[in-house]
Amino acid sequence: KMGDRKAISFQILSDPRAKAETLTWTELLARTTQAANLFRSLNVGPDDVVAYLLPNCNEAAVVMLGGMTAGIVNPINPLLDVEQIAGILKETDAKVLVTLKGFPKTDVAQKAAEAAAFAPNVKTILEVDLLHYLTPPKSWLVPLIRPKVTARHHARVQDYTKAVAAQPADRLTFDHSGADRVAAYFHTGGTTGVPKVTQHKQEGMIYNGWLGHELIFDETDVLICPLPLFHVFACYPIMMSAIQAGSHVVFPTPAGYRGDGVFDNFWKLIERYGVTFLITVPTALSALMQRKVDADVSTLKTAISGSAPLPLELYRKFEESTGVQVAEGYGLTEATCLVSCNPFEGQKKVGSVGVPLPYTDVRILKCAEDGSITHECGTDEVGEICVSNPGVFEGSTYTEPGKNLGLYADRIYLRTGDLGRLDADGYLWITGRKKDLIIRGGHNIDPAEIEEALMGHPAVAVVGAIGQPDAVAGELPCAYVELVAGAHADPAELLDFCKDRIHERAAIPKYVEVLPELPKTAVGKVFKPDLRKLAIARIY
Ligand code: ATP
Repeated sequence: KMGDRKAISFQILSDPRAKAETLTWTELLARTTQAANLFRSLNVGPDDVVAYLLPNCNEAAVVMLGGMTAGIVNPINPLLDVEQIAGILKETDAKVLVTLKGFPKTDVAQKAAEAAAFAPNVKTILEVDLLHYLTPPKSWLVPLIRPKVTARHHARVQDYTKAVAAQPADRLTFDHSGADRVAAYFHTGGTTGVPKVTQHKQEGMIYNGWLGHELIFDETDVLICPLPLFHVFACYPIMMSAIQAGSHVVFPTPAGYRGDGVFDNFWKLIERYGVTFLITVPTALSALMQRKVDADVSTLKTAISGSAPLPLELYRKFEESTGVQVAEGYGLTEATCLVSCNPFEGQKKVGSVGVPLPYTDVRILKCAEDGSITHECGTDEVGEICVSNPGVFEGSTYTEPGKNLGLYADRIYLRTGDLGRLDADGYLWITGRKKDLIIRGGHNIDPAEIEEALMGHPAVAVVGAIGQPDAVAGELPCAYVELVAGAHADPAELLDFCKDRIHERAAIPKYVEVLPELPKTAVGKVFKPDLRKLAIARIY
């Protein structure tokens, strides 16, 4: 029924003059079938892994879907360094790696070649040529970064486009039974350190897609998603929901490599495609709010934000500029993705992450040092957020199956490492992250309190608060700030500003430092391990 309707559009290079490619559902299905057949012809069975290292493009979507049809797909963030990519390839024992040929402004191909050299089990490297997107201006072709490769690497390489074209597009060449098996390995964002590889079963993926369709999207909707396809947020609640709902998804950029200028033409893209839902993360909303709304965005019904706390100021600014409210939600890779969300039409509690989604059970539990669950917290009592849903199962964490899982009331719960409370209406409030808490003289300080206070300053675009090691107090809170482009504010002024807004004396930062740009992960979360290094460097 949805065959000729638009399925996905990739706006390459986020410049409206650049070539965009739209696939219909019929085309997406045909290409996915070809990709799955290709992987099977390369001996990928249901337990074998197809890894991909690609920026957002239709091939990334096709490889993702084809990989999980033939075997287990393993998307990898191309911004990770070579050692991390090699580590993931070895950990998942990938057999096939799909990556870029040469492309302007990105060293993805080079990284793939170097990482694959450490992963001997990668038998085939399929290279995707994206240069066909780059019709004029030719200036974009310079500098084109081509990988330097060894003869051994060369022997494993095949041209993806040619190889896939030789495969039948109208039928799968293998038996595709619907057993509920593990079909993806996704790594976490690595916000708190080394990314962890998690396993996802088909049931969890379908569940996340079902939620999107059931709660919000239908075939008349157009979703825009400035997030990379190697992250669960773009893959399940967006792509899988679009598949189930028949919505059209617009990816505004080849997210996944630096220097995209993703947000420069964003409002125009919303107008051009008649976008109804913006699905994004707080730092992206902040970047958007620094650009004037220079297009007709009246088609926009709702924006959804997740993956990090949404500052109240940003929520307000977005509503003032667009007339659209942001529904904040919560999810994590280990739970396959979605956990809770504020209602789109019903009562939103701004600052909360909404109510648990259907078939998801959230409990606030107290966990002992050894990880065992001791008891359940009462209303508004803070404890560890624990989640049970169709995406959580015995093997959720690939590297250490069973890690962070606990049995409570005869169900398996994921201990998320996030701290929070459930209020009397059942809304979930995140109060911190165990690993991010700043502990000053035994007193727990939630960095979000400092971040929220500084975000109230009009010159502040992004904030990251962390603990600086201190011989007496253990840790002292401090904050790093990125300013709105063209704005000015000095550290002393910012410190005074937040002093007036932080009620708890212990939480007042020792210092505020302004950086040209804060270190961020691929989905735009502030990367706190790097800020901690800066704070330590200030001591010596
Ligand atoms: P790693 O686990 O490797 O450090 P990561 O936390 O970025 O990386 P993800 O699975 O991408 O891995 O992110 C999940 C985490 O994001 C959650 O555990 C939670 O801490 C945070 N998070 C998600 N949504 C929100 C939200 N709305 N508000 C606050 N934090 C959120």
